[in-house]
Amino acid sequence: MSEVLGESLRPEVAAPVDAPPVGARWAAVTCDVEPDYGNRTQSSDLIADPKYLDTLVAHCTSLGVPLSAFVVTQCLSSHPSLTRALVEHDLDVHAHSHRHDTQRYATSSVEEIAACQECFRSHFGRPAMGYRAPQGLVVPGDSAAMADREFVFDASVFPSRRRGLFDYRRLPREPWRWKSGVVELPFASAGRGRAMLTVSYLKLFGKLYWRSVLKPDILPRVLVIDSHLHDFFKAPTFGQLPLAFRLAYSRNRRNGLALLGWLIGVLRGFGYEFLTMSELYRRVAVS
Ligand SMILES: [Zn+2]
Repeated sequence: MSEVLGESLRPEVAAPVDAPPVGARWAAVTCDVEPDYGNRTQSSDLIADPKYLDTLVAHCTSLGVPLSAFVVTQCLSSHPSLTRALVEHDLDVHAHSHRHDTQRYATSSVEEIAACQECFRSHFGRPAMGYRAPQGLVVPGDSAAMADREFVFDASVFPSRRRGLFDYRRLPREPWRWKSGVVELPFASAGRGRAMLTVSYLKLFGKLYWRSVLKPDILPRVLVIDSHLHDFFKAPTFGQLPLAFRLAYSRNRRNGLALLGWLIGVLRGFGYEFLTMSELYRRVAVS
């Protein structure tokens, strides 16, 4: 498949949302709860044992920030202990596709959006408010499919480029409303090249780089920070990853939790208030 271009999605963008009010800055820390390494190793060790999620939640609690989770809903059925952990931690939970099948997602996104909402509802007794696509891939028609399935916000778009997958650099860096009514809460990006401000890239590029691009006057005033359990913990199947991924994930391998804490401290210094995704949506949508 060729790259999905932001141009193909722009006709579905209704209008930017005028939020937050002058002087306010809002941020959210999110974790994609999914099979290990985005399903690249056919293992789920990091979700099978609740200790990993427990550790991340405890870390966020110690930092005084709420954590929002985007869960691959098929994992709710295959790992009942995961569902229990999400409920016990009272996390702000949303949906991250049903199967996280990156090979077929681009041609099955509408079915995935429907299946994951159905599965989410059967486990939690309510529809998920938010959706997140695997690899941040949004194709034309998806925002309408989300509205059909009662999603009120999407948090999939990196207004950046992922070679061979998408180029969304011409989409806004701050929230907007799709014509379907769904609100987009895009991922954080920073710097001239719109580098993705995620825990994966915090580790990959390191503090020195991020210090140089994290400037309050050029950062979006709404920041959605992405992470995965594999950014913080090493799964036993790590050795099965392709070499390029092993090298990338080895940079700052043990520093995921510390770097997240560092980023939160920097953003707090710039005046960002940390919210759950549900609260962020409410504030953005009513503005
Ligand atoms: Zn994912």
